[in-house]
Amino acid sequence: MQKKGLLIVISGFSGVGKGTIVRELLSRYPENFALSISATSRPMREGEEEGREYFFVNREKFERMISEDRLLEHAVYNGNYYGTPKDYVLQEVNAGRNVILEIEVQGGLQIRDKFPDSLLLYVVPPSAKELYARLVGRGTESVSEILRRMRRAVDEADFVPRYDAMTVNDDLETCVREVYELIRKKQEEAAFRDELLSRLKEELLIITKEDDNQ
Ligand code: 5GP
Repeated sequence: MQKKGLLIVISGFSGVGKGTIVRELLSRYPENFALSISATSRPMREGEEEGREYFFVNREKFERMISEDRLLEHAVYNGNYYGTPKDYVLQEVNAGRNVILEIEVQGGLQIRDKFPDSLLLYVVPPSAKELYARLVGRGTESVSEILRRMRRAVDEADFVPRYDAMTVNDDLETCVREVYELIRKKQEEAAFRDELLSRLKEELLIITKEDDNQ
């Protein structure tokens, strides 16, 4: 039987570098990982492409996707819908690939509820000052938008303990290796657990059957 892939949620404060970490994982291990492309009702930004960053849909279409149960999870962020299309993710997981979902915390926790075996990772910056510098440096948001995102980070911080692990993106290389290690460890543990449990179940059945025969 084909071994299933792992669902990996990567969340983190806006501007922390989640996108770069995910791109690194995909380019270093293209065989191992697939990236889920979300649907969103937010307008397309300059430089974005349909089907590359997101599938851009209007609110009506998004609500239809919800009612037709075509999303694995969804959330409202800054007044816009965001959600993970179900078909692609399940197809890749069933083909044995690890699928990365780069999503915010409400969605991450929905994935945890539906797929207890998923891995939830949260990326934080080394300091608030550094986060501010990164957000200013990428030049895609106004100062008031940056401050709004940083205020949101204060609320998000309370959810981080519900994730499996938190990693600090200080040095990118160290952070990518740490994330990869966490994924590898989770897979190893799951493989060990599944193998041992299936052997134990078989043994238990044999012993209890022998007892039944007496
Ligand atoms: P942005 O508008 O800056 O691209 O994304 C805003 C937030 O939405 C980010 O935290 C991003 O990770 C999150 N996000 C992107 N796609 C999804 C999704 O499918 N589901 C959820 N719950 N959040 C998402």
